[in-house]
Parts: sequence; C-alpha cells; structure tokens
Amino acid sequence: MELLFVVTNRKIDIESLLRFGKKVSFPAILAIPLIGGAIAVSWSAAEADQPVAESLVEPARGAESPATALPRAPEEASETEDAAPDPLETSAASRPRGPQEAALPPAEETPLDMPEEAETGILVREITVAPGDTLMQLLIGAGAEPTQAHQAITAMEPVYSPRRLMPGQELTVAFAATGSDAPGPLLSINFRPNRERDIEISRSNEADDFFAESIDRPVARQLAYAEGSIESNLSVAATDRKVPNVVLAEAIRAFSYDVDFQREIQKGDAFEFLYEIYVDEEGALVRTGELLFAAMTLSGSRTELYYYERADGSADFYTPQGASVRRSLMRTPIDGARLSSGFGMRKHPILGYSKMHQGTDFAAPSGTPIYAAGNGVIDFAGRNGGYGKYVRLRHGSSYQTAYAHMKSFAKGIAKGARVKQGQVIGYVGTTGRSTGPHLHYEVLVSGKQVNPLKVTLPRGEKLKEAELADFADRRGEIERHLTLAQGGLLLVQRGCEPDAELLEQGSAMGSDNDC
Ligand SMILES: [Zn+2]
Repeated sequence: MELLFVVTNRKIDIESLLRFGKKVSFPAILAIPLIGGAIAVSWSAAEADQPVAESLVEPARGAESPATALPRAPEEASETEDAAPDPLETSAASRPRGPQEAALPPAEETPLDMPEEAETGILVREITVAPGDTLMQLLIGAGAEPTQAHQAITAMEPVYSPRRLMPGQELTVAFAATGSDAPGPLLSINFRPNRERDIEISRSNEADDFFAESIDRPVARQLAYAEGSIESNLSVAATDRKVPNVVLAEAIRAFSYDVDFQREIQKGDAFEFLYEIYVDEEGALVRTGELLFAAMTLSGSRTELYYYERADGSADFYTPQGASVRRSLMRTPIDGARLSSGFGMRKHPILGYSKMHQGTDFAAPSGTPIYAAGNGVIDFAGRNGGYGKYVRLRHGSSYQTAYAHMKSFAKGIAKGARVKQGQVIGYVGTTGRSTGPHLHYEVLVSGKQVNPLKVTLPRGEKLKEAELADFADRRGEIERHLTLAQGGLLLVQRGCEPDAELLEQGSAMGSDNDC
C-alpha cells in the first residue's frame, strides 16, 4: 500500500519522523532530510489492512500549542497517532475510554472507528507523579480548575486512595477542548496502578458528577518451570533462570528446615521449581502464584517438596510421602536468599562448626532478618560479652538455640516471651567480637553446643490417612506437568501468548484454565 508523505519545509521535526519511522523503513527516514524542500516519499505500509492515509505533515512548532488537539490534517482520516507532532495528541488517539464531547454518544468504540470530530472535542495530557507531588497539584498543574480537581479526587477516594500513588506513576488526564490554548472542564483521569487493574475517574460531560471505577484486567494462570545447576550460589543460579525473587524466597524458606544454605550448597548441586504465574493479555507477568514443587539435589542426594493445601485452608510443603517439611528446628534460621556467596566461604575456618568455634556462621548483609529456628521461649535477650547482642531460645526441655552479633532485636523480643518458628527475632549485625556482619548460630543440647548439621530432627506432622488420597491426586497432577516440562514440551494455552522471556530460556508452560 502506497502512502504519500509531503514535506513542505526544510526544517523537519525529527521526532515526528521517528514516530513515522515505526511504520517506515529506515532508509526512507534518512532520505527526507537529505533531499529537503518539497519532496514526496513513498513507501509500503507495514500493515496491509491499514486505511490508506494521505497526510500533510507540517514541521513541528514545538510544544507551545498543546490545546490544538489534533494536527491540521486533511479531510481524510489519517494515521494521526503517527503523524501527530505533539506527544499529547498521540495519547488522545490511544485512549479508547476517553470521554467525549457532550453532543456525542458515549464512546464504546475504538479510536480508529471514531469520527474525527470526536477527537477534536477532548484534550488529553499525560502526567507523571514525581516525589512529593500531590494529585491535587498535578491536576491543577495540568490545567484543571481546583474545584473540579477536588471533585474528581473525592470521587476517586473510595476506589483508590491518592496517597497510594507512587513516583513514576503515569496518569492520563482528559479535558474538554475549548479551541484555545486553555483546557476546558476536567473530564477524566485514567491510570494503571499495577498490571492487574485500571482506575478510571470520569464523567460524560461537565454537568455530571465524577464516577470512579476499578477495572480488573483479565489475567490467565500458567505454570512455569525452571531448573538449573548451581555454579556459585542458588540465588545467582535461579535468577539466571529468571525465577522471580518471591518464588526463590519461598523455595529457600521451604528448604530451610533441611538445608544449611551457607555450607551445604556445592558447585554442581541442582534445583528444579514448578510455579504458577499470572499473565495479562499481552503475555506480561502480572504476578506469581504458588510454588507448587521444588526439588534440590545436594551432593547427589535429591529432596522433593510438594505444595499442598489442606481442607482447612492451611498450606505447606510436604515430602512425597505426605510429611510436613517442618522440623522442630530450621537449619538456616535466616533469610537464606540474602546469604553471601555460599561455598566460597565454606573453607573459612570460622564459618563452620568446630571444637574451637562451637557455632555456625551465616554471612549476610547487615539488617538481614534472623528467624527463630523453632517454637520456643526466650531465655536471654541482651548484650553478652563477645557475642554482642545475643538471643537464646529454649525449645522444649533439652534443646536451645542461640543467635549472636545482632544489630538489633525485633519488637517484643525480651526474656520470657514466646516465639514461633520462622518469626523474626532480630537483624544481622556485627556487635561484640566480630569482624563483619554475620549471624553466629548455636544449637545446644542439654546446655552443650552441638554441630547443627549433626543433629537429627524428626519431620513435622504427617497428613492424616483421609488426606493422603487427595494429596496423592494433587501430587500426580504436579508430576504430570513436571514430566512434560522435563521433556522440554511447551504447553501454552490457546489464545494466550506465552511470556517471551520464559520461552527464550526454554521453560515449559502448562495451562489449567481457559484464556
Ligand atoms: Zn561464629
């Protein structure tokens, strides 16, 4: 399809040309400035189903005339989105839900179907929230009359609090056009606070009240699979496989009962995760769901954990036999995702348990949360000589755990208080006799320090007989997905675009529902 482009002046607005460039081959863009003057360039339109557009583009006159809602186009419908020399107008064409001039019917159709006059009725401005901005200031700055801005914000409050707007948030604000530079009455505010929903505050004409709504965007559940071998540490390997941080953190937490993430991970160890993701219509990741399956192979020995939700709604990870992953004490009582490079430090004499050292050290940045390794009562919380800020917990009659060199204690941590396993009791520091931020962790049996790796702790509660059949069904379902994924099969939902990044790295996707 041939399009005609006439340049009437030597001074060509590069930006509008570049915008054209999306549809035009690169040499055509170069040719224009070279020839100059009144020339005609023709090219093939990228999309054959686009309407023929014949558009006279005047050189841009800068951003001083934002109130002119549309470029001076000829009578024919033109690709205003591309031809518009002003970015403000571009957005007018790309916002399907923008309110229309009072005389026109409410807009449900896409901008391409709209008669041209409809677009001349509104003036659209894009604004971006900067630190310290209030919505009121932003709206007034964009040209809104204060009373109207206030009305719109009041309407918005119950749907989305303006205080939640974050710096960098973009908003599209529409006004009635007046034909002059000044915007007319405020008509609408649109923004997308996250990929799951759009917020719209609008009225069809200036005599109406503002109406605010939160519009859920359609998302589809998919399964993502990642596996890899560990070269330096688990965080690096998993991030390399594009495993989202929350999924990695969940996996580390699930394995923290079994694995000492500082010492037990070695080069060549492997991981395998199957987890839920939710993607929008464009295939972009909206959020992650549950980690459904995690396996770790440490020194050749493989441990598998299955996510299972019980009838009472409680959810946990279970071994293939249906035993809860929990043990009475955690091997890694710290946010394992933040540990400094794992096995590089294994050789360090002070980091492992020895007769001299009598504890194990976890090197992590100052401020990293420290967890209670098990349910218990606080025996001691305070300064303790070379241990610095120190907490000791009692778990039942024979076990104790101790945590040293803390930067600070968590709220409510004092002698006599009860703590639950996994509860944050303090933060990594370097108080006392310490050369850098780390957690010194001790396990005591009958008052004597023991090597935590040598202590065998029983598994948590096993699922009840009645639950085991259901658990086996869920496990079978997960295993079917795993078999497909391990075979490199890509299962993508019909009508859904797979996440490009996930495909690129060869992850398999499963599907459980329709798009
Ligand atoms: Zn130590």
